[in-house]
Amino acid sequence: MKVCRKCHAVHNGKKWVPDAELAQVANNDVEYVLCEACKRKRDKVVYGIVYLEGPVLQDRRDEILKMIKKEEDIEKRHNHLSRILSIEQNKNHMTITTINQWMALQLGKQFKKAFKGKLEISRDASDRRGRGSKGREEVVVRWKQAA
Ligand SMILES: [Zn+2]
Repeated sequence: MKVCRKCHAVHNGKKWVPDAELAQVANNDVEYVLCEACKRKRDKVVYGIVYLEGPVLQDRRDEILKMIKKEEDIEKRHNHLSRILSIEQNKNHMTITTINQWMALQLGKQFKKAFKGKLEISRDASDRRGRGSKGREEVVVRWKQAA
């Protein structure tokens, strides 16, 4: 059986599941590899970009960062690939990159739910980010706080 050497996720034959205990018990016949999520994080493979804009990002920064982390915790229990790669903030703007599309969509929905505003979702098949990403489709999520 395959175990991720970085996050100790276990491949159950179909997909990666977080199971550190199982990984320790089954120590015979274990192959240590890098799981898909850790590979994408290492290679900085972006499948989702979330652009956020609004004064609330500055005013309630700590609360919002907690909300984002919580959302990631919830989502990664359902899908091993639902992870955030990076969070950058500049005053009223925040940019979050994710290693799957779902995570980006969920973050956009979460902001809409928490702070109303305007949500736009588009898909971008270009490889403008120049990371050898030909043919890979990114989801671009834009959320703007209502004026
Ligand atoms: Zn891993």
